[in-house]
Amino acid sequence: MSVHEEPGLVDRYGRAHRDLRISLTDRCSLRCTYCMPADGVPWLASSTLLTTDEMVRLARVAVSLGVREVRLTGGEPLLRPDVVDVVGALAALPTPDGPLDLSLTTNALRLPALAAPLRDAGLDRVNISLDTLQRSRFLELTRRDRLADTLAGIEAARAVGFAPIKLNALVMRGVNDDEIVDLVAFAIDRGLEMRFIEHMPLDGGHTWRREEMVTGEEILEAISARFPLEPVGHDGAAPAETFRIAGTTSTVGVIASVTRAFCDRCDRVRLTADGQFRNCLFAHDESDLRSLLRDGADDARLAQAMQACVAQKRPGHGIDSPDFLQPARPMSAIGG
Ligand code: SAM
Ligand code: SF4
Repeated sequence: MSVHEEPGLVDRYGRAHRDLRISLTDRCSLRCTYCMPADGVPWLASSTLLTTDEMVRLARVAVSLGVREVRLTGGEPLLRPDVVDVVGALAALPTPDGPLDLSLTTNALRLPALAAPLRDAGLDRVNISLDTLQRSRFLELTRRDRLADTLAGIEAARAVGFAPIKLNALVMRGVNDDEIVDLVAFAIDRGLEMRFIEHMPLDGGHTWRREEMVTGEEILEAISARFPLEPVGHDGAAPAETFRIAGTTSTVGVIASVTRAFCDRCDRVRLTADGQFRNCLFAHDESDLRSLLRDGADDARLAQAMQACVAQKRPGHGIDSPDFLQPARPMSAIGG
């Protein structure tokens, strides 16, 4: 059977997977406390990293199985030296529904140099992480004094016309939960969509505590105290619950992955920078597509491996279960 006749990436619960997250590197220019340890990060060996051709081939197989959306992430995806070529090659991949929907999640530090070439190569959208507007706090949170560079990156993304631009903030109690309203105001002023994310147990340092987490409910209360909100709902399988600020066209989103899990409509699969295919951020098993590929597997065999991995997907992440175990890889090595 040719891969074009495969039944797609449908799991035991009927979820069809259309969104592929590709991690371009596990390296990063920041060291966010909730994501990476200060030092001693066990980097992936360079011989294990997929080449651009290998990555694009796997993406092509995924497209033949129904994937229509690719998000590039990491680590910091803009640290990959050939990121513009990766975008160009993925943008050129044909799908029966036209070009792929191609987006990127970034800390924005390299956007002043790369926003225009990325747009010209075919990137559709960017999501930028911004947890604080205070320089000293940014330094504390990311262990690097680079707030000005992130802000310059946001301006660069606006200047080249990416739309929509979403800003993502991870909210932590006693760290940046007093900035929720300021971040919303910052985004509204610039015509951007602010989204707040619940902290998930994925940090390299294993510091997550359920009882310390700021919940989506608390985030909404904080926003509503200043900006009256009207629910807009969910956009298909997208994780954010969206709200319109009453009387305006501005929207804000809350990604309550822990307290309002959206696993039942999840349509995401992941490819790590070292070629491991994952059916969930929290999965413990991975499918080693890199070895298959380098051992000479044809596309049909690669498609079969992707389908077998998706078939094993669990109904949910199980964070609330007493036997929950954090995955061995940190977020920076899975691809957020
Ligand atoms: N370096 C890029 C960036 O920061 O946008 C892309 C990779 S980063 C891992 C992607 C997203 O994951 C960021 O928005 C970050 O805030 C989020 N993230 C990292 N660790 C997280 C955690 N433990 N819980 C929830 N989100 C997390
Ligand atoms: Fe780097 Fe993004 Fe992780 Fe921060 S969240 S350390 S910017 S990968």
